[in-house]
Amino acid sequence: MTETFGPLYERPKSQDCPDCSCCTAPLCERGRRSTMRCSGLTDASLMQIVSGCPCSAETTPGTHAWRAAHIRITRHATERPLVAPAATLLHALAAGGPSEDPEGMFGILLAHRYAARDVDGRPVVTAFGRRYLEARSEDRFPTPVQVEAVDVKARTATVVVVGWHLTQAVTVLLDQLTTETGLKAEELPGKFLEAEANCRAATADEIVLTTVRLAPELPTGWMDGSTPDAE
Ligand SMILES: [Zn+2]
Repeated sequence: MTETFGPLYERPKSQDCPDCSCCTAPLCERGRRSTMRCSGLTDASLMQIVSGCPCSAETTPGTHAWRAAHIRITRHATERPLVAPAATLLHALAAGGPSEDPEGMFGILLAHRYAARDVDGRPVVTAFGRRYLEARSEDRFPTPVQVEAVDVKARTATVVVVGWHLTQAVTVLLDQLTTETGLKAEELPGKFLEAEANCRAATADEIVLTTVRLAPELPTGWMDGSTPDAE
C-alpha cells in the first residue's frame, strides 16, 4: 500500500541559506529584495515554513520589507498620526515606565506593530514604535534628489539626497520612485526629483523619502542671464 509517486515533502535541492533554517539561499536572496518577503515568493506548501524567515523580515534592517515599513511608518506619523490616547500609551511604553491603558489602545499599537508582548506577557515598545515616535518629532525638509542609477533586478535606486549629503549615495526602493513620479525605471537615471526627507538622519539607511515628485524644469536661460527677471 506504499505510495511511491506522491508529493515529496523535501526542500528543493538548492543550497541552504546560511543565515536561516527555513529557506534556500536563492529564495532568501530574492526575499530580501522584495516587499513580499520569502513567504510571498514561495509556493503555498512552503509558505508556513518560511513565513518567519529573518533574512527577508520587515524587522531586519536593509530588506525591502524594512524600507517599505519605514516609508509606511513615516507617512503614518506625518500624515495621519495615532489618536491621542494611543500615542500617550506608546510614549509610556517607550519610556519603560508603568503604562496605563484605560481606553484599550494596546490593540491599535499591536496592529501597527509598534508594540508587542515580551516573554512575560508585558506590553513593550518595538523598534517600529520607536521609529514612529522619532518620525513624529524629527524635522523633515524639502530637498532635491538626483537619481544616480537604478538596479532593475534588485528593485533599488541609488540617489543623492542633496539636503542630507552632497556626495554620499542613498539606496531607496525603485518602486517608490516609479510609483510616486510616474516615470519608468529606465527614465530615472540622471533625473532631478524633489522629495521631503529627514535630512538630519545620521546614516544613509535612516533616510526616508516621502512625496517624491519630478522637479519642475528650470526656466529657459536661467544660467545665461537672459531671463526677463534677471537683473
Ligand atoms: Zn528566507
